[in-house]
Amino acid sequence: MRCSIADCPGEYEQREVVRAVHQGDRIIVIEHIPAEVCDVCGDVLFTPETIERLEALRQTTKPPIRTVPLYKFAESA
Ligand SMILES: [Zn+2]
Repeated sequence: MRCSIADCPGEYEQREVVRAVHQGDRIIVIEHIPAEVCDVCGDVLFTPETIERLEALRQTTKPPIRTVPLYKFAESA
């Protein structure tokens, strides 16, 4: 499918992406999210089902599979 961004000649391709979302005052990371990603500009499209699933995961109280290091940009040097 042709990219929906104006003047971008790219095509979307099926990929898996990672997203970090806020859950209250903490951040949770969700990986292996199926998405359509433009091979030129990187625009990402999710299906409505995927967005629903992400929203459900954002509310989850289940323990995470693992935890990850978290850095602040301004302090990462
Ligand atoms: Zn594009």
